Amino acid sequence: MGGMSAQPQYTIAVRALCEFTAKTGDLDLRFTPSPTAQEGIAGHAVVTARRGDDYQTELALSGDFGPLRVRGRADGYDARANRIEEIKTYRGDLKKMPDNQRQLHWAQVKVYGHLLCQDQGLDKVNLALVYFDIGSQKETVLQETHTAASLQAWFEQQCTLFLQWAQQELAHRAERDAQLKAMRFPHGDFRPGQRQLAEAMYKASKRGVCLLAQAPTGIGKTVGSLFPMLKASAEHGVDKVFFLAAKTSGRQMALDAVEVIRAGAPLLPLRTLEMASKSTACVNPDKACHGDSCPLAKGFYDRLPAARQAALDIMLPPASGSEPESGATLLALDRDTLRAVALAHDVCPYYLSSEMARWCDIVIGDYNYYFDLSAMLHSLTLLNDWKVNVLVDEAHNMVSRARKMYSADMEHAALRLLRKVVPEELKKPLDRVHRQWNQLEKDQTAEYQSHATLPEKFMGALQTAATAIGDYMAEHPSYVDAGLQEFYFNALLFTRLAESFGDHALFDIEKSEGARASHSNSVLCIRNIVPAPFLKPRFESTHTTALFSATLSPWNYFGDMLGMPDTTAWVDVESPFVAEQLSVQVAAHISTRYQHRQQSLRPIAELMGEQYRRQPGNYLAFFSSFDYMEKAANQFAEHYPEVPVWRQSRRMDETERAQFLARFTLDSAGIGFAVLGGSFGEGVDLPGARLIGAFVATLGLPQINPVNEQIRQRMDAIFGAGYDYTYTYPGMQKVVQAAGRVIRTQSDRGTVYLIDDRFGRPEIQQLMPAWWRIESALLRP
Ligand code: SF4
Repeated sequence: MGGMSAQPQYTIAVRALCEFTAKTGDLDLRFTPSPTAQEGIAGHAVVTARRGDDYQTELALSGDFGPLRVRGRADGYDARANRIEEIKTYRGDLKKMPDNQRQLHWAQVKVYGHLLCQDQGLDKVNLALVYFDIGSQKETVLQETHTAASLQAWFEQQCTLFLQWAQQELAHRAERDAQLKAMRFPHGDFRPGQRQLAEAMYKASKRGVCLLAQAPTGIGKTVGSLFPMLKASAEHGVDKVFFLAAKTSGRQMALDAVEVIRAGAPLLPLRTLEMASKSTACVNPDKACHGDSCPLAKGFYDRLPAARQAALDIMLPPASGSEPESGATLLALDRDTLRAVALAHDVCPYYLSSEMARWCDIVIGDYNYYFDLSAMLHSLTLLNDWKVNVLVDEAHNMVSRARKMYSADMEHAALRLLRKVVPEELKKPLDRVHRQWNQLEKDQTAEYQSHATLPEKFMGALQTAATAIGDYMAEHPSYVDAGLQEFYFNALLFTRLAESFGDHALFDIEKSEGARASHSNSVLCIRNIVPAPFLKPRFESTHTTALFSATLSPWNYFGDMLGMPDTTAWVDVESPFVAEQLSVQVAAHISTRYQHRQQSLRPIAELMGEQYRRQPGNYLAFFSSFDYMEKAANQFAEHYPEVPVWRQSRRMDETERAQFLARFTLDSAGIGFAVLGGSFGEGVDLPGARLIGAFVATLGLPQINPVNEQIRQRMDAIFGAGYDYTYTYPGMQKVVQAAGRVIRTQSDRGTVYLIDDRFGRPEIQQLMPAWWRIESALLRP
């Protein structure tokens, strides 16, 4: 945020300034989220189109106050009327808009008013808040006239309120960057491979390009990526690092890495925040997020300043010069710490965490926070013009996770139920959707069908229904119905995704029999299959994004699917493991194809039994489905009753999963039967004798079904690689992940059996780690 001038300068957006200085009272999300982003943009366009020719829109303005630079874009200026306008779209009854929200809008337009007077040398200006009702398309205009002098006084007052905080921020930033520049690698020395990864990260940031890093297990990836990115922050003027993880365990590893780095640099002021999901952070899940319902939303903004300061103070390092107490923990705002601060100040932990994201150097959270449709960290980045470096951990998950973020489905049965219970006003619009839906079902003879275009009439009806529900909820804020709410959000998501429907998605209808035979049921789905068009702009608004994982090949697959910019660099970090550590055997005399499964059971059991006899110990065996796994386990148990067998079961909860893994001890012996792509195929760490081998009896290929076949056709049309992009690559990633459970450290030794003749093919072996030495298993053990 530092400017180019000799004096350190703190730049802040008008909106961010006013949110800091002029937001008081309750947290209240009832009025704000009603219009969708698209409706908001469309609403602005309607209003500005109604103005005269010389009406200026998006007027860039800025002004200084001491070290502060305040900048922003005013929605509109009508020079003839000398009127500056702030346009706000809404739904429902304007009188119900909370007063503190109105005050915030006035604060913003007053700041713009001052900046305009200063820019154009005006001595007075008309300020207008234009409230545009999405439903009726009518404007309500509130207007006041202010003199340049009074606006200047207002501006200076707001700046003064923020100045102390800005100075604290500038001091923090200067100290942070000085300490980061001086920081040394915490372990004294890099582990093998770790330096290569760290250098690639640093270089990517230096060049301002994205990076795909394939980095094997066991090299200390988390420290090896966070450390260089922090160094880079100081050197390349980066405001923040976002560390995004696929799972909670990944967030914990990042927190641990920060602890390691800070322990090696005890004077480093580093503010680290862990974002938990709203559902886990919420203290009152039975309440709604406004002051009339939740006590932690009531007066939220009045107590926020103290909570905010307390949260920052927790992360302060010991004062420079004083020796840090030995063993003193340097606190980060992990979810428990943040919750404690929030509760001590009677504010909502979730909304305190979103506030703290503005002021922290490292934000650790789920992929969603930067990549999904309404990603908070992404909007903050744009709003504040932050320069961010983003780290994406276990990035092989990105394709499937991002597809989900940009897909939506709706079930007819849910609408049928809903129609019966909704208020009278909503019956008609919902009936229209229902009728259109019936028609779609009638028109489709096949059980599953993918359609090239969206059904226009249905989408029209859905849009109208969503608008009606939105209006109804805005007018009856106390009406709560979970089913209606869910339908509403789904309908909004559906219409939003419909706006950007294209090659990257499928629209399909899958019919099934309903509860009563007379009622057919169906699921409509907008199914994103190539998230690239959505993610590309996200990458582009970062300084660097580095995606890393043990399995990120082939590059072109990830580059194409995720929309990585053409300038993206990639690195394949050398493994610290050597071929001697792992015996990789291809059992090419067995076929695990569906039609050969029955015949495969016996040779698989013999292969496993023989290996176990030669080398008793702990093994995992992976299969393509529960059914196959059960049959193989039964066969094995029958022939080798003396060998302990553990089986994964369907829908294991966290405790059961932990129990399953707890059987793999340093002196146990047995075979765990599991399903590939399930809980035990990745993210499981069983070093040393806890796991000495794995049997992989499947190529992990996704099932051939109508949806996947549609995907294959589309992949073929877009990338010319239908089969590989749909089946081979996703499958082999799972195989390599599963086999990767065996060797965890440089002292591990182990064996992997790849059971299927197709594992012998060169194009398949090319997808395996370069350090593996692949041999053929004997035909008959
Ligand atoms: S505690 Fe829960 S209900 Fe209350 S404001 Fe926070 S998220 Fe909303």
